[in-house]
Amino acid sequence: MMAVLELKKVERHFIQGSRKLTVLNGADFKLNKGEMVALVAPSGAGKSTLLHIAGLLERPDAGEVIVNEQASGRLSDDRRTAIRRNEIGFVYQFHHLLPEFSALENVMIPQLVKGLNQAEARKRAAQLLDYMKIGKRAEHRPAELSGGEQQRVAIARAVANAPLSLLADEPTGNLDPSTASYVFEALEALVRQSGLAALIATHNYEIAARMDRCVTLSEGKIVDFQL
Ligand code: ADP
Ligand code: MG
Repeated sequence: MMAVLELKKVERHFIQGSRKLTVLNGADFKLNKGEMVALVAPSGAGKSTLLHIAGLLERPDAGEVIVNEQASGRLSDDRRTAIRRNEIGFVYQFHHLLPEFSALENVMIPQLVKGLNQAEARKRAAQLLDYMKIGKRAEHRPAELSGGEQQRVAIARAVANAPLSLLADEPTGNLDPSTASYVFEALEALVRQSGLAALIATHNYEIAARMDRCVTLSEGKIVDFQL
């Protein structure tokens, strides 16, 4: 089984005042192609830290992050940014859409940055928004959309450049339960249909139970966990 993302002996420590806080302490993890994994752990356990390191947004203090079989530790910041843009999709708890652009434009922009032309980017953006059942709202700006609609646009944007893996940090954490369930269903359909692999931090056990497996953080390590 090909791993699209691998963490090897990853460490991350923070200095808080006079105290050293160890968040990751030899964390090992493999995300296989097409697999959906829930990351379930209490607030403050280190989920966001883990996802930021896995998504090359931060560097670990020790250990290695391997994306699509390429070790990232010794790469330049420019190369890491290119991998992050083209090979990894990221969804945050808050959507971070660009407020002055329409939903369609928000999904087009990462593709234009990558070098696609306007027509190609527009076509794929429209398809993804349709897939996320939000095609009718394509011309609206984020402020004109509901929280659930904004997150569906953010998910479409995250996969715009057809990454092999999607990292999501409590993507439904700000939504009411029925909206969360609807957004997760659309996300799950997209992941399953595209063969994407996903690591999704969530507090929602109902959502976690629908994934292929669950992991949690324990003493700075990533361990399997049965709901
Ligand atoms: P989670 O996402 O599971 O709630 P985080 O990864 O955000 O957890 O944080 C894990 C721990 O690391 C927390 O105790 C948090 O206070 C601490 N932490 C996170 N980022 C920093 C930072 N930049 N500086 C100091 N401490 C941090
Ligand atoms: Mg967090």
